[in-house]
Amino acid sequence: MIPLCVPEIRGNEWKYVKDCLDTSWVSSVGSYVSRFEEMVANRAGVRHGVATVNGTAALHIALMVAGVRPDDEVIVSDLTFIAPVNAIRYCGAHPIFIDAEPDHWQMDTGKVLDFLENECIWRNQHLENKTTGRRISAIVPVHILGHPVDMEPLLQSSRKYGVRIVEDASESLGAAYRSSPVGSLGDIACFSFNGNKIVTTGGGGMIVTDNEAWAQRARYLTTQAKDDPVEYIHHEVGYNYRLTNIQAAMGCAQIELLNEYIAKKRDIAARYDTAFQDHSSFCLLQEASWAESIQWMYTLLLTEDNDGSLRKHILQKLEKQGIQTRPLWHPMHLLPMYKNDQSFRIEHTPRLYQQSLSLPCSVGLNKDDQEQVIAELFKLVRVDSL
Ligand SMILES: *Cc1c(COP(=O)(O)O)cnc(C)c1O
Repeated sequence: MIPLCVPEIRGNEWKYVKDCLDTSWVSSVGSYVSRFEEMVANRAGVRHGVATVNGTAALHIALMVAGVRPDDEVIVSDLTFIAPVNAIRYCGAHPIFIDAEPDHWQMDTGKVLDFLENECIWRNQHLENKTTGRRISAIVPVHILGHPVDMEPLLQSSRKYGVRIVEDASESLGAAYRSSPVGSLGDIACFSFNGNKIVTTGGGGMIVTDNEAWAQRARYLTTQAKDDPVEYIHHEVGYNYRLTNIQAAMGCAQIELLNEYIAKKRDIAARYDTAFQDHSSFCLLQEASWAESIQWMYTLLLTEDNDGSLRKHILQKLEKQGIQTRPLWHPMHLLPMYKNDQSFRIEHTPRLYQQSLSLPCSVGLNKDDQEQVIAELFKLVRVDSL
């Protein structure tokens, strides 16, 4: 069995988790929580980190802290794991879906600008969607697959229109855009430490920001909005969203090895690239000149696939041989609960979804297994596409 992407546990995880158990500091207060927050914030190049129970919860609170209110609209990537879109709905706001650009498959920030310039109007001190009359309060660029979004156009429009940028950096801890780490580019950012992410705590997340007041507010909202810890006095509806010390302990051990993990991921991607680059059946994800990708999830396109059937066939054949592969996510604007929300100039995401195949790329993947994946994929593409 060659799994798609499984955790790598070979550092101080046992030692730190044992320490939690030995000292009874197992819950959401403890030294590992603050240490983990510092380590991640440091890595993201910002001052504050607030650990959460998972990445989706981090996004929910980050959007609230950034000022997203019920009936607002939030611009978000169409090609993404669903979490940021659901988080927008948890706030009572509505998503507007933006296409992916065809070279790096990230949110097309040129199209975001186009939308803001031509579909919106400045009215009553805020930017309003001409079609719906609703306020546009935030943009959520999702750095997918370990590669950053082209942020410069977003940062410009954020300054011009006062729209907040909430980065979803769940898949890209350690990546950089023009030498700045993802997580430090917008107003606030989120990470995930789910089982398949580059750093895992089993489940977990983090909000990071340079804004001290926002960090305090995020801490407050994630701990049941507790105003007096002794008298149980609360002034708002809060959430029980904090990470436990046990999970944070695991996270600390994982972060210690992050540089090694990234180097391994980049090696794996380079080996796949070398194998596939000269074959017209495959289209590879190009690393942008301004990007330092962590190559979190190696994904290619099957260029001969027009409707997703070849990709499905290959996925099933490989599964039978114990090789686990996956497509990218179904475009958000096609899902039943989001199909009535606005999408803007979508041209590429349906094809990217249909043609995409993510290949095994665990940090611990060995060369022999990778060679086997490459050989089996070549057999299927050559034989079955004739
Ligand atoms: C993993 C992920 C999240 C967060 O997921 P959780 O399982 O809640 O930690 C959010 N956004 C993206 C793009 C992700 O890949």
